[in-house]
Amino acid sequence: MNAPVVTRFAPSPTGFLHIGGARTALFNWLYARGRGGKFLLRIEDTDRARSTPEATEAILKGMAWLGLDHDGEIVSQFENAPRHAAVARELLEAGKAYKCFATQEEIEAFREAAKAEGRSTLYRSPWRDADPASHPDAPYVVRIKAPLEGTTVIRDQVQGNVTIRNDQLDDMILLRSDGTPVYMLAVVVDDHDMGVTHVVRGDDHLNNAARQMMIYEAMGWEVPVWAHIPLIHGADGKKLSKRHGALGAQEYQVMGFPAAGMRNYLARLGWSHGDDEFFTDAQAKEWFDLSGIRKSPAQFDLKKLENLCGQHIAQADDAALRREIEAYLDAAGKAALTEAQADGLERAMYCLKDRAKTFPELLEKASFVLVDRPIQPDEKAAKNLDTVSRGILSELTPHLQNASWNKETLEEVLNGFAAAKDTKFGKLAGPLRAALAGRAVTPSVFDMMLVLGRDETLARLTDAAA
Ligand code: GLU
Repeated sequence: MNAPVVTRFAPSPTGFLHIGGARTALFNWLYARGRGGKFLLRIEDTDRARSTPEATEAILKGMAWLGLDHDGEIVSQFENAPRHAAVARELLEAGKAYKCFATQEEIEAFREAAKAEGRSTLYRSPWRDADPASHPDAPYVVRIKAPLEGTTVIRDQVQGNVTIRNDQLDDMILLRSDGTPVYMLAVVVDDHDMGVTHVVRGDDHLNNAARQMMIYEAMGWEVPVWAHIPLIHGADGKKLSKRHGALGAQEYQVMGFPAAGMRNYLARLGWSHGDDEFFTDAQAKEWFDLSGIRKSPAQFDLKKLENLCGQHIAQADDAALRREIEAYLDAAGKAALTEAQADGLERAMYCLKDRAKTFPELLEKASFVLVDRPIQPDEKAAKNLDTVSRGILSELTPHLQNASWNKETLEEVLNGFAAAKDTKFGKLAGPLRAALAGRAVTPSVFDMMLVLGRDETLARLTDAAA
């Protein structure tokens, strides 16, 4: 295919961005971004009763968090309604659609009779071939003339060729009696007008594709490449629900997962590239293809998400991590860091980011650089600050006064001091952790000393010894 790729994400703004929607958006984004194409965003707000600006806002925020930037203006489907109606009228004029004056009662009666006679209950309007001269002056809907014979084949990149007998397609309504276009028409017209070449969406829309193809054919428009992706299930194999944990993509931001890890994980939900589990955005863009999408439902697995997030945190740039952690604190409604705390965090990042799966975990390890003197040791740490330990700390302090502040020298000093005390460095570590961080579990003592610097280290040791 040589035409530039255009994909789109077309959420209905009736709630937050859920995990399934986020993955659909990601797949479309990756497909376009990996091919120098465009990724468009259309808000399907035709259902006025259920669409809210708050939901649109929530979807945009979710996408922004995931870094799924779209090209061009956001399209509002509702605003295109006049254009959708115009297409229906065009089909009417071309004889590919017709006015149907059947009343609800007549349609009901048709169905009852069909059922009684064991015929298909698919409505066949008597107005399909009626002479316009016979048209009454009464309300009507506009129906498409569905093909009566043959088959419609959806050439789906995930599901394979899906064949539908045309005698199972009804003359779908395009315009309601109040003149408003139906959703199915709106999707096709918008996708065509937006130049969408590839439609990647949930397989709950597979049935719609057959009906939408009727409109493409009637208008003589090129049918896009379809890829209907399977739903996401929980680890128990059942359809994803609240029972399985958070459903909103942004809830994962509030839990402190990094966006890059979330993208990596969502990309792996139903798609694979060999055995690769961990990959960067650049790799995902290069590798992502529709042929790698699995046909069976993907299973959401929190452990796997945590694992990937840990790897992304470990390899992230320190300054970028700092910014993302600040955004996390804001999203989670937690107190913001002061400039000094954020600077300290960034300096300490090198010794924090290994083995932290989430930002709360990383911040827990960072507490030594976030607290102010005098440090209140927690219960466990306090046990390491008995009289003997405090004595040792006060003896140690002068040895550090003139030491060069680098890892080798600090190691030499501490090991030498331990040897002179006829003990092991390990024995000093507990009191030092308690003095420097007020905790029993911290990054290495040397890393803490280096991050804190000589003055702060000595001050904390002196505080603890007192
Ligand atoms: N608005 C539809 C949804 O949110 C998507 C329609 C489509 O992708 O064609 O499920």
